[in-house]
Amino acid sequence: MILLTGGAGYIGSHIAVELLDAGYDVIIADNFSNASADVIKSIETITGTTPAICQIDLTDKSEVERMFQEIKIDAVIHLAGYKAVGESVREPLKYYRNNLDSTLSLLEAMEKHGVTQFVYSSSATVYGDPGIVEYTESLQFGAASSPYGSTKEMCERIITDVAAASELSAVFLRYFNPVGAHKSGLIGDDPDGIPNNLMPFITQATTGKLPELTVFGDDYPTRDGSCIRDYLHVVDLAKGHVSALKYCMDHKGVEAINLGSGRGTSVLELIEAFERVNGVKVPYKIGPRRAGDLAEYYASPAKAEKLMGWKAELTIDGMCRDAWNFAMKAH
Ligand code: UDP
Repeated sequence: MILLTGGAGYIGSHIAVELLDAGYDVIIADNFSNASADVIKSIETITGTTPAICQIDLTDKSEVERMFQEIKIDAVIHLAGYKAVGESVREPLKYYRNNLDSTLSLLEAMEKHGVTQFVYSSSATVYGDPGIVEYTESLQFGAASSPYGSTKEMCERIITDVAAASELSAVFLRYFNPVGAHKSGLIGDDPDGIPNNLMPFITQATTGKLPELTVFGDDYPTRDGSCIRDYLHVVDLAKGHVSALKYCMDHKGVEAINLGSGRGTSVLELIEAFERVNGVKVPYKIGPRRAGDLAEYYASPAKAEKLMGWKAELTIDGMCRDAWNFAMKAH
């Protein structure tokens, strides 16, 4: 049984689908604070399988312990956590308390119950601003750009220390920019309130839910002046977790692995692709730079392929098509 924390969220629901399709038994642990119960029905519709659900506050050590007593868990994929960068700057304690406590409770229960495989949802933000555009895993941690980023780095450090003192085998998956949705259009990124990320902003500006998109800066030293990021399809990202789980099962120790495509796409290029593929106009204006944004970075995806045989397969056009398909079905 694979314990998938945060499995009702945007990324977690796609991982649940890939795990169930690959034949794993899955239990989703989620507090549903930023996810809807409908997502579970969608997972069932897509896979024809019903995952087990545990509604739980993972920061509550005794609840986590009870879950491990009741269910025989073989491995953990841990995504549950707060993830809004701006909010983490305004409410750092909320982020430190939640993101660290949940990871600690899980590690303690895993140690007690002899569970030794752990896949952790990390982020390219741990690299800080290394001064180069292609990020390899051999780079040191950079200065964290937000409390959210600090929690990712801290959890990687905690897991590394635990692994050094035990039989724990862990993979930190450092996500670049996941976008898109399942091709069924039944699950996807549907944030509450004003989105934090570019793709839901594009879809909501296009449906009219938001008046327009602001492109944060067109005076960066890039090919068209807008920022460049490494976008990857959420289904590719989800498959990366299945690969990481398999890797953990036959290796000891910890590995940090980038999940990215290795290709950079600018904000204006993404908008152009979205308009072309979907035959729509994205209302947008050019605005000032957003504080803290770097001009350009993308993943070196070589380690993921070498160690886990994983690489991103799906294109920018596919990401735009699937994001729009989901947005049209959801509204
Ligand atoms: N971006 C933008 N307008 C928005 C949201 C994002 O121009 O309303 C840009 C942002 O400057 C960055 C890219 O889109 O270059 C991706 O931003 P996002 O917040 O999705 O992810 P990040 O790369 O910051 O983790």
